[in-house]
Amino acid sequence: KYTADQIAAGEVVERPSSVVKELVENSIDAGARRIAIDIEDGGLSMITVSDDGCGIEGDDLELAFQRHATSKITSTGDLACIYTLGFRGEALPSIAAVSKLTVTTRTHDAMTGAQAQIEGGALVAMVPAGAPPGTTVTVKELFYNTPARRKTMKSPATEGSLCGELVSRLALARPDIRYEMRVKGRDVFYSAGSGRLADAATAVYGAAMAREMVPLNFTEEGITITGMVGKPSISRSTRNHITLVINGRYVRCTPVTAAVEAAYQTLLPQGRKPVVILSLSIPPELLDVNVHPAKLEVRLLEEEKMAVLVKRALLEALRTKAL
Ligand code: ADP
Ligand code: MG
Repeated sequence: KYTADQIAAGEVVERPSSVVKELVENSIDAGARRIAIDIEDGGLSMITVSDDGCGIEGDDLELAFQRHATSKITSTGDLACIYTLGFRGEALPSIAAVSKLTVTTRTHDAMTGAQAQIEGGALVAMVPAGAPPGTTVTVKELFYNTPARRKTMKSPATEGSLCGELVSRLALARPDIRYEMRVKGRDVFYSAGSGRLADAATAVYGAAMAREMVPLNFTEEGITITGMVGKPSISRSTRNHITLVINGRYVRCTPVTAAVEAAYQTLLPQGRKPVVILSLSIPPELLDVNVHPAKLEVRLLEEEKMAVLVKRALLEALRTKAL
């Protein structure tokens, strides 16, 4: 049977890294201070995301797998003003529809935890389980029941590196959260969660490169722009190294990326791209996060003004500290 869940799943769950993103965002929403990500075979055979967040109440666990069951919107008015990362109640049911998923969870004041097992969207077991406070979600055999999608996957190595890249972006977006990532049990990434962006940048880029990045601090017209901007000397050949964070979420926004590149235009040789971590705090009503189901691409309402501010902020930081 091809359910509405499987159709929705096709939109939300494109590949293993989309699963990682949704699960980690749920952990962040749950107030996690530590998030561990484990993958095997590029996430195709297994993805586990484990957190020390608030956990899910026993009674709510079954609900969490029903579409549009979100604990994060209490009125439709909230839709205009979204501060948490998740809000549509679509991710868990979508992932569960196309995998074999286990959630083990315990709230901090519950005596015992609970575990739910879902296969292809159907609940197969719900049992009490001993567990530390927090939530662990394990996703096995992604797309086992959607062979067409499974066939479009790249090699485990490529899917795995997409997962790794995503985790490093998430770590840059939230330097206050401790991230650990393992591949087949082997540590591949660690960001201590010190709260300092420079530490997260060191975790992702290494000390030598992080030293060549200068801090950025800019506020104007209710918009705050912070981050770290790479000196022209550490430019790269791809634009992959522009990490954009808006209101605490790792996002993509082409006009902002273009503004970043424009700021560097005269500073870099042709074809080179800057290394930049940019975090914008903007009034939430200026942000439209509902463009893409996977919620990575966002649209800004005052795009041109934002582009001007971003360019100015970058040039200021570069002129005073990097040139
Ligand atoms: P959304 O994040 O849009 O609310 P999801 O499908 O991603 O929807 O998650 C459904 C619900 O399950 C969430 O609203 C939340 O209540 C609960 N949930 C999911 N993951 C976690 C987690 N790691 N910790 C605590 N609660 C969680
Ligand atoms: Mg979510």
